[in-house]
Amino acid sequence: MTVCYLGLGSNLGDRAQNLERARVELEAHGARILRQSSVHETEPFGVRAQPWFLNQVLEVDWPGTPRALLTTAQAVEAAVGRTESFRWGPREIDVDILLFGDLVVSEEDLTIPHAGLAEREFVLAPLHELRPDILAS
Ligand code: ADP
Ligand code: MG
Repeated sequence: MTVCYLGLGSNLGDRAQNLERARVELEAHGARILRQSSVHETEPFGVRAQPWFLNQVLEVDWPGTPRALLTTAQAVEAAVGRTESFRWGPREIDVDILLFGDLVVSEEDLTIPHAGLAEREFVLAPLHELRPDILAS
């Protein structure tokens, strides 16, 4: 088991319900939710002409590999109804792997810690609720 932090984001449809469905789907795929941050309403990043987001960070226990967690994250996005969008564009749900234990992964389609983590206040703030110690490093 590895303690991981997942970033959820939604700015289309019933945003709170999309976050809830993502939590249910993650657990159905074997990610045990240990703790969850509060839900933060945030201004869109990058492409600003779109609805505001709800963001939340989950602390989960994950039994498999980072690759399997990425596959699960993408399956959860599909299940919650994410349609094709563009980078930083609107979406029903976005599931990002922020941290995977203390592992560092640098592959073409998988970067851990998540590449945008350091400069994205909308994930740093909810992550800070769960892990106030982590930002100092
Ligand atoms: P973004 O989250 O940056 O707005 P997407 O959700 O569309 O963009 O993700 C694009 C790609 O990012 C995915 O196909 C995935 O392979 C890749 N990716 C790289 N590192 C990660 C990570 N740590 N968590 C989730 N996706 C990642
Ligand atoms: Mg993503």
